[in-house]
Amino acid sequence: MSNPSILILPGDGIGPEVMAEVRKVITWFGDKRDIQFDVSEDLVGGAAYDAHGTPLHDDTMAKAQAVDAVLLGAVGGPKYDVLDFSVKPERGLLRLRKEMDLFSNLRPAQCFDALADFSSLKKDVVAGLDIMIVRELTSGIYFGEPRGIIEEGNERVGINTQRYTESEIERVARSAFELAMRRDKKLCSMEKANVMESGILWREVVTEVSKDYPEVELSHMYADAGAMQLCRWPKQFDVIVTDNLFGDLLSDAAAMLTGSLGMLPSASLGAPMDNGRPKAMYEPVHGSAPDIAGEGKANPIACILSFAMALRYSFDLGDEATRLESAINTVLEKGVRTADLLGEEGVTPVSTSGMGDAIIVAL
Ligand code: ATP
Ligand code: MG
Repeated sequence: MSNPSILILPGDGIGPEVMAEVRKVITWFGDKRDIQFDVSEDLVGGAAYDAHGTPLHDDTMAKAQAVDAVLLGAVGGPKYDVLDFSVKPERGLLRLRKEMDLFSNLRPAQCFDALADFSSLKKDVVAGLDIMIVRELTSGIYFGEPRGIIEEGNERVGINTQRYTESEIERVARSAFELAMRRDKKLCSMEKANVMESGILWREVVTEVSKDYPEVELSHMYADAGAMQLCRWPKQFDVIVTDNLFGDLLSDAAAMLTGSLGMLPSASLGAPMDNGRPKAMYEPVHGSAPDIAGEGKANPIACILSFAMALRYSFDLGDEATRLESAINTVLEKGVRTADLLGEEGVTPVSTSGMGDAIIVAL
């Protein structure tokens, strides 16, 4: 059997810096655990524009379609702000998501014990927190037609349409149930069925899909009440599934329960491939952070945790993912901090590569 394949797209800004640390981790798994990956690397975003005049070359797109998992750093930066919309770095990312049809966006909110004091919330609210928000990514109000700004009488009207087909709801629901099966078997679906037709259909379809997953305990919540519960007592949840708009808001709110942007990974999954695993792209939630790019200050943990998600969801190496996450917790417990995680006085921050090295030692 051939080795599992990964396409690395470091991108722009701090993307290449944090990805260099993931490279160390991949090498460690090869050397010490004899887990080999076929790793290839290519350009995306501004870096691809500089080389090819397009934020994503067709060859790169074809490679992304062929591998088991794509690992992406970040795209964009002030240098590219002047570019035409059609070749902006972000378009490269959007093309990947669209052509790979990555409809299910997984955003964990996980609190490492060592950082429980760092959150803006009370320690007992976040300590040990480990939840996952599944956001529908390719449909809903951001894409529905009709849309636009039209003239009506003597004023303008801004129009967007929330639209979900049964099959769109079903496939993201299924991916959330599959995830719940591998976790605590608890799924909460959030919509606004009280005021939205798409919410009524959402609730119906999710309930129907639940019949295939009798072991999973399903609940429903209105998204506004869900937002409140998420802040009040987030540990009541395991997996949350919701639409594109609500997921955008809820996953950002949930993310802030846990501290720094430099700690947050994500996965975007599509339909199952021949090997049964979903098409997948993994990336840190943060952007290219132009304000600190090139200074060796970036926290590589979000990107390394994104690789841990790849181990778990694309390569069926859940134990190895846990090993990596524990190593990160060990490092944090020892007080090793990049600049974004500094809270206490008297701690000298480590560099991006200093953090990567410490994680390798802990592994
Ligand atoms: P984008 O439009 O690409 O999302 P953004 O400006 O919205 O970019 P980021 O690029 O993520 O967001 O940066 C937001 C802030 O967080 C910046 O001050 C940046 O330095 C900081 N930041 C982001 N990622 C990291 C990281 N990995 N380590 C340390 N600081 C980070
Ligand atoms: Mg941003």
